[in-house]
Amino acid sequence: MSFEENVRKVIPYVPGEQPNRPNMIKLNTNECPYPPSPRVEEALQNLDADRMRLYPDPTASELVNALAARYQVNPDQVFVGVGSDDVLAMSFLTFFNSEKPVLFPDITYSFYDVWADLFRIPYQTCPLREDFTICGEDYLRPNGGIVIPNPNAPTGLLEPVDNLECIIAANPDSVVIIDEAYVDFDGESVLPLVDQYENLLVVQTFSKSRAMAGARIGFAIGQPKLIAYLNDVKFSFNSYTMSHVSLAAGKAAVEDETYFQEITARIVRTRERAKEELRTLGFSFPDSKANFIFATHERMGAKEIFDRLRERDIYVRYFNKPRIDDYLRITVGTDEQMEALFAALREILL
Ligand code: PMP
Repeated sequence: MSFEENVRKVIPYVPGEQPNRPNMIKLNTNECPYPPSPRVEEALQNLDADRMRLYPDPTASELVNALAARYQVNPDQVFVGVGSDDVLAMSFLTFFNSEKPVLFPDITYSFYDVWADLFRIPYQTCPLREDFTICGEDYLRPNGGIVIPNPNAPTGLLEPVDNLECIIAANPDSVVIIDEAYVDFDGESVLPLVDQYENLLVVQTFSKSRAMAGARIGFAIGQPKLIAYLNDVKFSFNSYTMSHVSLAAGKAAVEDETYFQEITARIVRTRERAKEELRTLGFSFPDSKANFIFATHERMGAKEIFDRLRERDIYVRYFNKPRIDDYLRITVGTDEQMEALFAALREILL
């Protein structure tokens, strides 16, 4: 007998690489290529280091109130955490507590099965159709909860709200989590359904559309009952998840709606131009509504393109997994970064 028999063994999620060289082009982790709102910078400069002596507000009320105002809900409908990864992990722990399997797509955010394994939650995956759309009927069987990203990652496909509403309405005995990490790039949110469905939890993040992946801020919106259950678990785990820094920076970001609209629109414009260029180069892809494009090439294998881009210090993401191992996930960068990517692809492919 060794202590190792009693260790909780897990196979961890593997995040994208974070190299940081001055001239590299980093299109591999769906970050925003623009800086956060100038108001965030201002808020950081106004932070008083002496405040760090004190614990932050455990209820994160300033940030929660700012989010409630922005999304027109009550503060008791908002939960915040250390990136949406933390919010999702807490949600799995809180709501997926059944013997029945949790359901999610077979091609999806690869953290879901990791949390399920970590928390010993049974799960089953529902195969996407050949075109990567969701087959709604798969979510009508008995289950212990459902999680679906919309747009899905890494495909970028946006599922119409009506289809998701059918799934939410058909599962009143399960919590349905819609992970909207990428919804701000011209997607349609299910947030308007929150008043109607007490089993719906919508999760979003500051990491993409608010250009703050490094601040680690995510949030969930649902009916007060769901949020209260989430807070009970959070306060049984770690009361102080949000630092003074992230509370101040997050509040400043939410309050700058103009900047938010400006940078998300800019990314959408660049994405649509990138689609045209990629098509010309012989790529095909699901019609992304996210800040990335999931593309496969008519002639050259994805791994080879990935390696050859990397030699040129251009990083995109490659997943060596069934059904998607001939695709590259390319984050939408600035117009300039995308031009450099296309120039490299022309060299590699033509
Ligand atoms: N959900 C999805 C679908 C994602 O792709 C990501 C980004 N890795 C996250 C959640 C987590 O993002 P964050 O923790 O930075 O909010």
